[in-house]
Amino acid sequence: MTRTVYVNGEYLPETEAKVSIFDRGFLMADAVYEVTSVIGGKLVDFEGHVTRLQRSMSELEMVSPVTMDELLAIHRELIAKNDLNEGGIYLQITRGAPGDRDFAWPDPDEVPAGIVLFTFNKPLVDSKVMDEGIKVISIPDERWSRRDIKTTQLLYPSYAKMQAKKKGCADAWLVEDGFVTEGTANNAYIVKDGTIITRQLSNDILHGITRAAILRFAREAQMQVEERPFTIEEAQGADEAFVTSATGFAQPVIEIDGATIGTGVPGDISKRLREIYTEEMIKAAI
Ligand code: PLP
Repeated sequence: MTRTVYVNGEYLPETEAKVSIFDRGFLMADAVYEVTSVIGGKLVDFEGHVTRLQRSMSELEMVSPVTMDELLAIHRELIAKNDLNEGGIYLQITRGAPGDRDFAWPDPDEVPAGIVLFTFNKPLVDSKVMDEGIKVISIPDERWSRRDIKTTQLLYPSYAKMQAKKKGCADAWLVEDGFVTEGTANNAYIVKDGTIITRQLSNDILHGITRAAILRFAREAQMQVEERPFTIEEAQGADEAFVTSATGFAQPVIEIDGATIGTGVPGDISKRLREIYTEEMIKAAI
């Protein structure tokens, strides 16, 4: 089926949608993005995603081409036009197309930001990964230092993922100064003696929308949470490990750099958190 996508104010068949070769997203990765999951045709934690989008834009002095209410309407229209039941919506806002290549940012009054949205189908609730868990490798974190801003500069995470694939693993955990920052496109956690451990928020990691919800649900369920850095060695000795992201929810990690985590099968706390998250997010989806 040909998707209907949204490009700079128009809904178009994906085969007819075009952006300028001078778009700064294309030339310089001068763009921010969000991915919101959709379950049962409804948006999961839309509020969290638009709040982070606004923050990413404001940190980079970008001016949104649409209001946040318009953004919600566009998301809903795309769900309807594409008959989307389960999957997600990718949204990208770029600093526009000034008609030439220049390191200096164009005046936002003269060059409006560019905006693109498209849907994708993906099974989210029933996932094979949940039964089996994933294997990860560790790799140095060589991204820029403002990882709290969700930009489209994804070459290093993409490179890291390929290194993982070459070793037969699904993903890589990035390590800086001896401590895990996060996964290539997810936040990383370990569980030891019932305590959930994940790196504290700072510019070193993306402030995951799923992370915020998972930690809230964990605390509500009286689970112990410690927000602090951990090493690969500590992770290898943990009882459980898992990652969270908007389209992955909570996914168990069963092997890190060849070392089996716990008993080598998804742990009870990871499974329980995924269950609670799925149930609560379906209820709250809009
Ligand atoms: N960390 C990174 C580097 C990411 O790219 C992502 C998602 O793309 C996440 C964490 C998880 O964030 P969220 O839960 O908002 O999807």
